[in-house]
Amino acid sequence: MTLTGEHMAQDKGIIVVVSGFSGTGKGTLMKRLMERYDNYTLSVSMTTREPREGEVDGRDYFFTTDEKFMRLISEGRFIEHAGYCGHYYGTPRDFVEEQLDAGRDVLLEIEVQGALQVKEKFPEALLLFVTAPSAEELSARLHGRGTEDEETIRRRLERAKDEAVCIDRYDYLLVNDDLERCTEEMHQTIRAAHRAPVRNKEFIGEIIRSLGKI
Ligand code: ADP
Ligand code: 5GP
Repeated sequence: MTLTGEHMAQDKGIIVVVSGFSGTGKGTLMKRLMERYDNYTLSVSMTTREPREGEVDGRDYFFTTDEKFMRLISEGRFIEHAGYCGHYYGTPRDFVEEQLDAGRDVLLEIEVQGALQVKEKFPEALLLFVTAPSAEELSARLHGRGTEDEETIRRRLERAKDEAVCIDRYDYLLVNDDLERCTEEMHQTIRAAHRAPVRNKEFIGEIIRSLGKI
């Protein structure tokens, strides 16, 4: 058998975790990536926070109560879950597993505690951390979005300081300066990550087996 790039994991789906401080532009980037390429599926998280104006249940999040969220945790229905600025957020397990089996790259736009849980359970997951070009720009984007009051913005910027110390646990850092450039860089980073040995154990096995036949 001749081994080619086709045998590598690019035909299998991988989990791509995307984190970054609130207001960095993660949601905007995810939207752009989905518009531009068709090999990605975005996981829809569950949260106990209130919907923002324009957010749709089942599209942006599955909005739920604390009681139901706790029940789903006890039933093991999340891949990961975390508390963030007074609310719970979690990634429903079934959908992610279904999409990976179907060969799709699944994007999880989640905060750092959840990202580290994913890495522990799925060591082959790819962890990307996105930053804004500066703290001033981050604050300006968060204010400019106009979806949170001053107190909530203050808590989110405060939380960014805790998150920053975990950045070194990620695989790659991306700067969301220009949206189009960063979208393209993210896509290229994911494509390259498909070729990493950690995601190609079967391919490596084939190489070793074929050498044994010489
Ligand atoms: P996050 O999901 O990380 O909290 P959003 O995607 O909601 O952030 O983006 C926060 C704000 O910044 C939005 O108003 C969005 O339009 C804006 N934004 C996103 N990316 C860029 C960019 N590259 N340049 C300028 N503004 C941006
Ligand atoms: P927001 O309230 O702005 O939509 O999200 C707040 C934070 O929660 C963001 O950092 C976002 O990435 C994160 N988040 C969204 N969904 C999930 C999830 O399912 N799990 C975890 N751990 N974090 C999430």
